[in-house]
Formats: sequence, structure tokens, C-alpha cells
Amino acid sequence: MSSEKDRFQRHLVLPEIGAAGQQKLAASAALIVGCGGLGGFQAELLARAGVGRLRLADRDRVDWSNLPRQILYDERDAAAHAVKAERAAARLHAINSAVVVEAHEIDVFAGNIEALIDGVDLVLDATDNFETRYLINDVCVKHGRPWIYGGVVGTSGMVMLVLPGVGPCLRCLLPQPPAPGAAPTTATAGVLNAAVAIVAAWQTTLALRVLTGAPAEERCLISIDPWQGSFRALHVKRAEHCPCCVEHDFVFLQNRVRQFGSSEA
Ligand SMILES: [Zn+2]
Repeated sequence: MSSEKDRFQRHLVLPEIGAAGQQKLAASAALIVGCGGLGGFQAELLARAGVGRLRLADRDRVDWSNLPRQILYDERDAAAHAVKAERAAARLHAINSAVVVEAHEIDVFAGNIEALIDGVDLVLDATDNFETRYLINDVCVKHGRPWIYGGVVGTSGMVMLVLPGVGPCLRCLLPQPPAPGAAPTTATAGVLNAAVAIVAAWQTTLALRVLTGAPAEERCLISIDPWQGSFRALHVKRAEHCPCCVEHDFVFLQNRVRQFGSSEA
């Protein structure tokens, strides 16, 4: 068995991570919502980077049309119509057996998301629908949990880091999700596998920055199209009347008054 020093040598000499950052990663936990294209790349990169605990949630089974971009699965999994969360956990264990992987074969909805984010340091969006993204947004803002939005359709994708109480949330950008059927999906518009890898890698970089405690407070929606060779960073402000931030800022404030009120009295 290799030592930690051997395994993570390239991170240990990297000034942005180093020994202190590597220790923080080992002590960290992340929830990945979705074990498809984005979630597969995110999970593999985080496991290889030595993040201590990964919680995966996905209710799907592996299909042949998944194989071009869902790197945790192979032809045996598609033939067996294997459970994604289970196969992902087995693959991640083979990659880095020190990582504790919790696989949940479930649909994420309002009734279970609070239990899923309990005990994790951040949440990565690897879903394929806005309904679940807005649910992640609202629950993460409510509990002050950083989360990283990511989406890909066709050859382009978007990424945004949400730091509750600090920067804008998804509802600051767009108060309500697009109506069902209004936004193109990968099923109708297709998706470029390399674009999925780039968006997931960008999300993972933000996750590693947050988990190692590096400054990660930029308020930008990143828009990338590797096929066109384009990259844009759109500055996003916290919306004064954001239905999500306003409500939870009020709750934060009340809690702080409660916390500090008694010691100051
Ligand atoms: Zn907001």
C-alpha cells in the first residue's frame, strides 16, 4: 500500500494545496446530487484528490446511452442495467479505498434533501433538471451550505458557486426555474462529452478551493463553450428582493441575535 506522501506528492508540492490543504480535504465531506456525466467526473476527481467522505444520490440505472460521458461505468454495467449509485461507489473504492463512499439509490426531493446535506461541507449539482437545482439552492441557503451549480447542454455549459450569506444564489440570478419544457435538455439537444468533463472539472476546482479554505468568493456565472472556444464570466449581484436570500438572511440574523444576545446581556 502506498503512503499518503507518495500518493499525494503532486498535491503536496502544489502551493495552492500543500500538506495543510491535503489534510483539510481528507477531513472533508461532499454530497454529489446525480451520478451521471457531471457527477461521475466530480466524484472521480474528488476521490482521487483524497476528499475523505463522498455521499452520492441517484436513483437511475446504467443505460447504453450513458457510456459516452459517464466515466464511472462500462459495458458490463450497461448490459446488467446496474444501479448507478452502487456501481459508482464500487468504482470509487477501487480508485481510492481510503475514501468513505455512501451510495443512496434515491430520488432527491424536498422530503429527503435536508437529511442528505446533513454533515457535508458542500454540495455539487450534477442533476439534469431545474426543479432539483432550485431545491438544492433553497436548502443550502437555508442551512448556510456552499453549493456549486453546473449544467451542460449541447457543447456549452454553465457553472456558479453559491456561498450562502456571502454571494448571490440561483434565485438572485433567476427567481423562478424555467417552466418545464422551456429549456433544452440533453435528450433533445444532445451533449458533447468533453463539455461535460470541462464543466465538471470547473465545479470540482471550486469545490477543492472551498474545501481547502482558499478564497473562492467571486460572484460569477461562468459560461463555457469549448467547441466554439468561448468563455464568459458574468458578474452576478445578490438580488435585493431575492425570495430565498431575504428569508434566510432574516433567519441568520435572528439566530445571531439569539446567540450573542445572551452573552452580551
Ligand atoms: Zn438569492
